[in-house]
Amino acid sequence: MIVCKNRIELNTVFQEYRLQKKKIGFVPTMGALHQGHISLVQKSVEETDATFVSIFVNPIQFNNPLDLQAYPRTIEADLALLEQAKCDVVFIPEVIDMYPEGSDIKESYNFGDLEHVMEGKFRPGHFNGVAVVVKRLFELIPADIAYFGLKDFQQVAVIKALVKKLAIPIKIQACTTIRESDGLAMSSRNTRLNSEERKQAVEISKALFASKNIAYKKSVDEVKKFVIDTINNVPLLSVEYFEIVQELTLQPISDWAKYDVAVGCIAVNIGNVRLIDNILFTK
Ligand code: AMP
Repeated sequence: MIVCKNRIELNTVFQEYRLQKKKIGFVPTMGALHQGHISLVQKSVEETDATFVSIFVNPIQFNNPLDLQAYPRTIEADLALLEQAKCDVVFIPEVIDMYPEGSDIKESYNFGDLEHVMEGKFRPGHFNGVAVVVKRLFELIPADIAYFGLKDFQQVAVIKALVKKLAIPIKIQACTTIRESDGLAMSSRNTRLNSEERKQAVEISKALFASKNIAYKKSVDEVKKFVIDTINNVPLLSVEYFEIVQELTLQPISDWAKYDVAVGCIAVNIGNVRLIDNILFTK
């Protein structure tokens, strides 16, 4: 596995792979890797000839400076996991590599209604930060396929909108959410939960799974109330939002009738940690 620590090293390596006409897969990450990330790497290894992974904690997508400061960084363990997963190239840039202009980043994208709901509404500037870094990473690693997790459902929609808007010729492959054995969606932020918080966090996925049984039987509002009340009744959990949205536009729906498929998206605060998850509803 080759480790590139700046864009010059990366460019040399990328060109070598391209000259060999290899089909290239790319998995952007912020590190603190777990099986969720590794599932994306494995998919890329299966589907392409060479897998590139980036590890970069992107400061401009954090709207909360404490969250950025507390974000777990486990580079040695990450490299061991990537090596084991047969990743070919890891790119670990410094902030200056991604943002040579410093903190005054002028680039801005408009994703319309997509960015006014849920994560876009509660984390102002978050998706612009994601779009800026992903566009720059795609310029540095113009892969054939890029892999993203559906755990960040709205992020996948924003990235698809970005590549469409800028006509970036990279296929976006969305991959299923990997969960712990009790159902909690894997997340780098899970390591920040203490043992009591971790115990109670499982109630998020439990409520989502239970809501699947009443979707399309009870009204949208009743299902929303069920999920919000169930989770808010757990002492350490506090729901920031739970929305049931149309799967492509991500706009909230008010009744099931017109939609064979919908997605329930949630953000929950547990102490200082904020977790997101989602569930697919089908008729
Ligand atoms: P992050 O390091 O949190 O930026 O995540 C990097 C990529 O891994 C994103 O595309 C995430 O959606 C994806 N990812 C994170 N957690 C999971 C999970 N539990 N299952 C599948 N993919 C995930």
